[in-house]
Amino acid sequence: MLDDSLKTQLQQYMGLLRQPLRLIASLDDSSASQDMRGLLDDIVAAGGGKITLDTSGDDARKPSFVIAREGQDHGVRFAGLPLGHEFESLVLALLWTGGHPPKVAQDVIDSITAIDGKYSFDVYMSLTCHNCPDVVQALALMAILNPKISTTVIEGGTFQQEVEQRQVMAVPMVFQGGEMFDSGRMSLEQIVAKLDTGAVAREAEKIKAKDAFDVLVVGGGPAGAAAAIYAARKGIRTGVAAERFGGQVLDTMAIENFISVQHTEGPKLAAALEAHVREYEVDIMNLQRAAKLVPAGADGLVEVQLENGASLKSKTVILSTGARWRQMNVPGEDEYRNKGVAYCPHCDGPLFKGKRVAVIGGGNSGVEAA
Ligand SMILES: Cc1cc2nc3c(=O)[nH]c(=O)nc-3n(C[C@H](O)[C@H](O)[C@H](O)COP(=O)(O)OP(=O)(O)OC[C@H]3O[C@@H](n4cnc5c(N)ncnc54)[C@H](O)[C@@H]3O)c2cc1C
Repeated sequence: MLDDSLKTQLQQYMGLLRQPLRLIASLDDSSASQDMRGLLDDIVAAGGGKITLDTSGDDARKPSFVIAREGQDHGVRFAGLPLGHEFESLVLALLWTGGHPPKVAQDVIDSITAIDGKYSFDVYMSLTCHNCPDVVQALALMAILNPKISTTVIEGGTFQQEVEQRQVMAVPMVFQGGEMFDSGRMSLEQIVAKLDTGAVAREAEKIKAKDAFDVLVVGGGPAGAAAAIYAARKGIRTGVAAERFGGQVLDTMAIENFISVQHTEGPKLAAALEAHVREYEVDIMNLQRAAKLVPAGADGLVEVQLENGASLKSKTVILSTGARWRQMNVPGEDEYRNKGVAYCPHCDGPLFKGKRVAVIGGGNSGVEAA
């Protein structure tokens, strides 16, 4: 199933497993099941004795498989083949289930393990969607860390009938307990905050207690990251408040005009930006949307009011809030967002296969998309 290069990579990664794993597969005699069986055999072979395959699963979604720790049944389920952009999600799910630690801040891990109440997520993805892996990996990790959370990752192309019934017209799309939960790119922190209703208030309290900054950057894209690094290098007290650290580059997989870097992927560049900023003493406040800017009063400090009710003060404020998708402002645009109005042809295109679509925009992106 996998080519030799992927098999070698997989074998190297599986060397990091700390605990034995069991793959519990639900298969039938379809060609999709044969392909899945091939993939599972490759994973078992790469596991060097640490991974076993059990084909006695009887889930309604076929083909599918669960990755469980030996002796357990609970784990992330993949329905359809997690290849393409999702191969990394598969590898990470294997590693995390096998005890390899995720690269996630300890306070986020603590919030996930503390989530009380049962949650059952279905996340629909397509193999060409570059926004999907973040959401898939976030929900997979949550299910691995907290046994009260279950996650099924569904490849929309394999389960088209289900996709039509649930009116999935954009990926990633997430259902919880059978109800629509959210769609589009989401970070682990955003999903956790959505479940942990006290998190926003706790974060607001933390922010209220902060001293004034010398420089406060609003926006965490490449411009905001550069501004923060330059300020912090002068040894002055610097903060970044960003709705989504990384900015627009998170939405693209191919960047080839960043001179000295021949090719990189947006999420990789965003992670590198964050790592670079964190080399300095910069207070990064992610998932914080600024709502209002109040000019300096008698104390000489500019105030930035946040949507969560807290506010930050700074001698200087740098606004680097970048750009966002342009709206057409036509009737129905908001109501039909992700229900027929899509913004990412690479992600959502496969869901409209064989259908008549209109591409709005005549620039190179529009033509490429068409
Ligand atoms: C699909 C796609 C592909 C692209 N490909 C390329 C490419 O190949 N090469 C290239 O050079 N450029 C490319 N670009 C453009 C490039 O990403 C942008 O030029 C660049 O990201 C702009 O950086 P920025 O920091 O100014 O703003 P942005 O990246 O837009 O960042 C804005 C930041 O401000 C935050 N923000 C916004 N409003 C608020 C608020 N009220 N409160 C708090 N925070 C806020 C956002 O969350 C984000 O962190 C691409 C863009 C897209 C969407």
